[in-house]
Amino acid sequence: MQPTFTIIAPVYNEAESLPVLYQRVKEVMDSTGEPWELMLIDDGSNDGSTDMIRSLAKQDERVRPIIFARNFGHQIAVTAGLDYSRGQAVIIIDSDLQDPPEVILDLIAKWREGFEVVYAVRAEREGETWFKTFTASLFYRLIYRITDIKIPLDTGDFRLMDRKVVNVMNSMREKHRFLRGMSAWVGFKQTGVPYKRAARFAGSTKYPFRKMFRLALNAITGFSYFPLQVATYLGFIAALLSIIAIPIVAIGRLTGTGAFTGQATTLIAVLFLGGVQLICVGILGEYIGRIYDEVKGRPLYIVSQGPDDKE
Ligand code: UDP
Ligand code: MG
Repeated sequence: MQPTFTIIAPVYNEAESLPVLYQRVKEVMDSTGEPWELMLIDDGSNDGSTDMIRSLAKQDERVRPIIFARNFGHQIAVTAGLDYSRGQAVIIIDSDLQDPPEVILDLIAKWREGFEVVYAVRAEREGETWFKTFTASLFYRLIYRITDIKIPLDTGDFRLMDRKVVNVMNSMREKHRFLRGMSAWVGFKQTGVPYKRAARFAGSTKYPFRKMFRLALNAITGFSYFPLQVATYLGFIAALLSIIAIPIVAIGRLTGTGAFTGQATTLIAVLFLGGVQLICVGILGEYIGRIYDEVKGRPLYIVSQGPDDKE
């Protein structure tokens, strides 16, 4: 039977949370009275989550496992879930229970009103370091400023998407994915629902600074050319400065006041512009590396066991 709802939860070493996640999702989804499926995507876990997903799938056929061949990252794991999902509405949640499954009912209510994307807005966050909250808040505001699409502030991947939206998302095969940007980009009728983001149920964050930084870069490069244009702006500023400086220096030297005779000025100018140029080359590199990844055309992920495979 085609399920009405698909719940997608990416799993990377979440063995302690999984049984509770399943239990709470089951209670919430059964209360809707509609058929549902829970897709658990194992993103290369090594703490026993994989076996736990398999045994949940054996217990309850509504649990559909996707086991990756290695760790591909959160955004890719969710992408696999979207690819395999069959529901009329698809809900993405974290498997660490920071996104309370009970909020799904609010998302569904908005969907029934006719909204095609319903994202959950973090009104409050519990149990997170000030550094995480601060960088997250900075990140959302930066993205909002410099990208062309308006990604709602303080929303993560916790959201509901209609089948129509999921089909469009599934046709977007870019390698460096920023799903909340992509789901804002597609348009359709969108709305937000506020919720209180809970603390992690167990374990520690799977998003160290390095991964957060990569996600931020993917978001910026995926949705904006602004960093590339910075080089142009800086170039104009430097050219303008030199046009003003050249006659001043020339007059200074000709009138013999002794100004601008030192080497320090030259050295500073060379170092400064050299630095600026290297940064600009690095920015170019970020874009070129991404173009290269697209051109290689490798699959987004490698599945070692799909939902319908026998072990
Ligand atoms: N996750 C994943 N692959 C990764 C990192 C994270 O599938 O490489 C999953 C993780 O299991 C969790 C979700 O992505 O369900 C969000 O990760 P996390 O809770 O660590 O991020 P945070 O909430 O701290 O931003
Ligand atoms: Mg989390």
